[in-house]
Amino acid sequence: MTQSDELFSQAKTVIPGGVNSPVRSFGGVGGTPVYIDHASGPYVFDSDNKRYIDYVGSWGPMILGHAHPEVIAAVKDAAEKGLSFGAPTEIETRMAAKICELLPSVDLVRMVSSGTEATMSALRLARGYSGRDKIVKFEGCYHGHSDSLLVKAGSGALTLGVPSSPGVPASLAADTITLTYNDSEAVKQVFAELGEQIACIIVEPVAGNMNCIPPEPGFLETLRAVCDQYGSVLIFDEVMTGFRVGLHSAQGYYRVTPDLTTLGKIIGGGMPVGAFGGRREIMEHLAPLGPVYQAGTLSGNPVAMAAGLKTLELISAPDFYRKLSEKTEQLVSGLKQQAASAGVALTCNQVGGMFGLFFSDEENISRFAQVMRCDQQLFKRFFHAMLDQGVYLAPSAFEAGFVSAAHSDADIQQTLEAAGKAFKSL
Ligand code: PMP
Repeated sequence: MTQSDELFSQAKTVIPGGVNSPVRSFGGVGGTPVYIDHASGPYVFDSDNKRYIDYVGSWGPMILGHAHPEVIAAVKDAAEKGLSFGAPTEIETRMAAKICELLPSVDLVRMVSSGTEATMSALRLARGYSGRDKIVKFEGCYHGHSDSLLVKAGSGALTLGVPSSPGVPASLAADTITLTYNDSEAVKQVFAELGEQIACIIVEPVAGNMNCIPPEPGFLETLRAVCDQYGSVLIFDEVMTGFRVGLHSAQGYYRVTPDLTTLGKIIGGGMPVGAFGGRREIMEHLAPLGPVYQAGTLSGNPVAMAAGLKTLELISAPDFYRKLSEKTEQLVSGLKQQAASAGVALTCNQVGGMFGLFFSDEENISRFAQVMRCDQQLFKRFFHAMLDQGVYLAPSAFEAGFVSAAHSDADIQQTLEAAGKAFKSL
């Protein structure tokens, strides 16, 4: 019995399913979740002190690697001055200014404590600003767990509000229209029919919660165009892609400008942080300037701001994203080679420092339905074969993977050797 086995049994007696976020339970891959004791650079260490090369990076935030000395120093300095005041601090303004500098679409930004809060608040603002209730989202995109967003469609071009989680009021879900990611025609059709009632479109500009699906050329542009035509708000949920695919995030990478942007993960450097921001005219509808209410006891927390701001400073270094992208490419092309030589059908997607692996013989994967057709059993076996060899991948076939600046060539090489063995064992 490992320490993780023991810790998991104890946890299950006092925490639902033993975990504080469902995917951590290894429900998607079977087996006992790895309990992390500490982490450093590209590695996490479990409670038995086994080392893993980590491609989860706390689900995205750890772009500099774990426990980066300068981030830790900034956190320690901030902590010594007090943990929370619930009053304005200078560092909040510096953080906001940095976000506005890196994302030209953002004139004003409000800090919150999670991605869920960011998207929930952005939706309320879009509804309050437009005076409309309906929202459009895409199947397979995840925007946190607020009621309006926990809705997904069955297959088909248009589905009107089916709650996918018990507890989401059907009346609320009825205002969520779920469409197929990368299906521009469906978007145009729905707007032609209901455009004047639609408050906003919310989209992951690279979908990272159904594995990793980049937008097809023209898709994001179509969203921009219909929002302009019908006076709806375009929200890019960049909680995952923000500062992950490039210094100016997905909006800079694809050169499509949203009205509102939601952020999280990297901007907190590993601390609980989210943010939403965008056009001045819309953001001015927020309290205390306007009537749309939103607040938070710990919003703009000084310790969290210190971790986030230091992270944003460090990723602004010249060439940071070129190197991160090259490293990720090296990993992905190596994995494809290893799979091919083992006779395993594998397709990979990659944008900047995020990637997705699909056990599939389809060459281009750009739709949710294709993701669902991938061989999940094969993924599970691959996941465990990698875990045994000290490589920690996301414990789900529906999550993107992340490379950090701390991963060395030797780490990538070691990963590829492990993958070679894992593919052969399938
Ligand atoms: N939006 C996106 C695109 C996400 O990937 C996530 C979390 N993975 C969220 C929102 C929710 O963020 P949080 O888990 O911090 O609430």
